[in-house]
Amino acid sequence: MHQTHPALRAPLLGGDVTQPSCEDAVAQLTPTEIERYRRQIMLPGLGETGQLKLKNTTALVTGVGGLGGTAALYLAVAGVGKLILVRGGDLQRDDLNRQVLMTDDWVGQPRVFKAQKTLQALNPDIEVEAVCEYVSADNIDALVQRADIALDCAFDFNERDLLNAACVRWGRPMVEAAMNSMEAYLTTIVPGQTPCLTCLYPEKPEWDRWGFGVLGAVSGTLACLAALEAIKLVTGLGDPLLGQLLTMDLARAEFAKRRAYHDPDCPVCGPISRHHLSDRLTDIAPAEFCGAL
Ligand SMILES: [Zn+2]
Repeated sequence: MHQTHPALRAPLLGGDVTQPSCEDAVAQLTPTEIERYRRQIMLPGLGETGQLKLKNTTALVTGVGGLGGTAALYLAVAGVGKLILVRGGDLQRDDLNRQVLMTDDWVGQPRVFKAQKTLQALNPDIEVEAVCEYVSADNIDALVQRADIALDCAFDFNERDLLNAACVRWGRPMVEAAMNSMEAYLTTIVPGQTPCLTCLYPEKPEWDRWGFGVLGAVSGTLACLAALEAIKLVTGLGDPLLGQLLTMDLARAEFAKRRAYHDPDCPVCGPISRHHLSDRLTDIAPAEFCGAL
């Protein structure tokens, strides 16, 4: 009934992670938490078991802008036990049309700390860690290893590629959310099971370092869907977008699901990488999701 995605078993139940089993942990939902999450616990397919899985999950969110910040908001109120937010830089006034965790009086200060403060006030039952750095080759492996799942909401493709490669290296699922103006793209990547980001985008799209026009309602729509993908993967609720790319033209309210191409020779998740992955993904049953690829 509550089938967590198998990719999450390793990080949640691995030897170096002292998480209680779901059965033990059910008793560990506090009365406050049961009250706080009552309306979602009522959902068929989530229940107290799913809520416990959320509580025992650490999610890494790279970027805390209109996309990552809003996704983090919905992970926080859903009760994901620990959030690691990673983003360098200070809040600009022109961020405020979409960065809903921020307030006007914070302009000029590091946005990741304001995000931490807002989320912690919204839900004191979770832990929120703020890392005021950009994703880099130096920090990404340590960050990914501490997480059960990652949400890629980074600003540029350099950071996105680093996160994708680290998630493949360490066998962590990654929700990939990207947008360009009124268009948005979403998929869920499970190393060893689905195409990775490099399979999807072997050549990087043109990227305007000064940014593109964006409405908060557009980044927020994508962010809600990205948070939902993570919640689905953790709890087993519904069907995540495995091997499928959801494309959204929000100017026309047109949504389409496309099968994502899995490159057998991908330099990131191809044969050489898969060989190194085999030790880390022993709990994954490859046949289970091949129909979705
Ligand atoms: Zn790949």
